[in-house]
Amino acid sequence: MALIVQKYGGTSMGTTERIKNVARRIAKWKAQGHDVVVAVSAMSGETNRLIALAKEIQDYPDPRELDVIISTGEQVTIGLLAMALKEIGVDAKSYTGWQVKVTTDSSFNKARIQSIDEDAMRADLAEGRVVIVAGFQGVDEANNITTLGRGGSDTSAVALAAALKADECQIYTDVDGVYTTDPRVVPEARRLKTITFEEMIEMASLGSKVLQIRSVEFAGKYKVRLRVLSSFEEEGEGTLITFEEDENMEKAVVAGIAFDRNEARINVKGVPDRPGIAYQILGPIADANIEVDMIIQNVGENGTTDFSFTVPRGEANRALAILREMQTHVGAAKIESDDKIAKISIVGVGMRSHTGIASTMFRTLAEEGINIQMISTSEIKVSVLIDEKYLELAVRVLHKAFGLDQAA
Ligand code: ADP
Ligand code: ASP
Ligand code: MG
Repeated sequence: MALIVQKYGGTSMGTTERIKNVARRIAKWKAQGHDVVVAVSAMSGETNRLIALAKEIQDYPDPRELDVIISTGEQVTIGLLAMALKEIGVDAKSYTGWQVKVTTDSSFNKARIQSIDEDAMRADLAEGRVVIVAGFQGVDEANNITTLGRGGSDTSAVALAAALKADECQIYTDVDGVYTTDPRVVPEARRLKTITFEEMIEMASLGSKVLQIRSVEFAGKYKVRLRVLSSFEEEGEGTLITFEEDENMEKAVVAGIAFDRNEARINVKGVPDRPGIAYQILGPIADANIEVDMIIQNVGENGTTDFSFTVPRGEANRALAILREMQTHVGAAKIESDDKIAKISIVGVGMRSHTGIASTMFRTLAEEGINIQMISTSEIKVSVLIDEKYLELAVRVLHKAFGLDQAA
């Protein structure tokens, strides 16, 4: 007998029929004698719908009130799933985040979980009940409702698993595991049997939304056994996130390819090439809490230089407004932005011990006539910024170039 935490995503909870399916799957685990705690998402599309409603009232919704609104999607699905379980004779009880309680900090819309009270859940499990917890939400110390950022139900599940010291945390979604890249973009993508934590953290942070990055960080920190599985298939072992590289397995140098369409590039042209200029430009952007990702400062010529960086697409206008305000003060000739860009990253722990990976990437893109606008690297990844219209082509050719479409 084990204690399992399961998470069902929006597509898996998308209709009452699908919720009944989820209930049947849970009932099977229960029938095998396991204790089951479930975290669920809102029905697919619901969180987007609620955000759109809020934006009909305010262009930039009040963060506290936005959380009050967008946390409701999960309150519906916990109730429906508890009912579906009772209908098939399995005792179950639903909890919102504050009922559990899942305590977070007060960063509305992107709160971090600080602690989880396990008492009520333990009592229910002891009574033989399935515990169903609303994902994506918590409550801060002042009793404000908070949410954990898009895709946050993954993190709810892992945090529950950590708090309860569960034997495994199973993330059930609409694909049957973590693939070499998004299978919706590259049909040849293959499911990975295992992926290391380091690789999964990079993949998640570089745009693969199959797991929210914080859920992977959490699992790494608390050593939670984490697995991604399909909620639509009966069998299958999915993908296990592993702590160590499997020495027996001949691993590909590149484990996967991630991409991100959510950034915009900002160019500040013709700024004086002198000490302090990067700080003058990026300081106010950081003060406004806008996250900067890639940065390039060109070698100066005739005393001036060009400076480019990327920000989340949704923040580009705010960043531009800040820069325009100080344009004369900084002495920039021109400020422009481009949001038709995409970032592609190749990820693999094998890169540590192999050379020439980046150059293979650059050659492959060059052969397709795809221009690279920016590059950034770390020990286990190489990212490039390209024109968004070439994104799918670029991912496909890179997937092939690194042999990811071939069975490992
Ligand atoms: P859920 O609603 O269950 O949380 P998400 O839509 O958040 O599901 O995440 C699953 C989706 O992630 C898949 O449908 C797939 O399109 C996308 N995805 C992106 N990269 C990958 C990858 N490397 N492996 C598997 N799925 C990926
Ligand atoms: N419902 C939330 C979202 O759409 C959380 C989640 O699904 O993980 O982002
Ligand atoms: Mg998700």
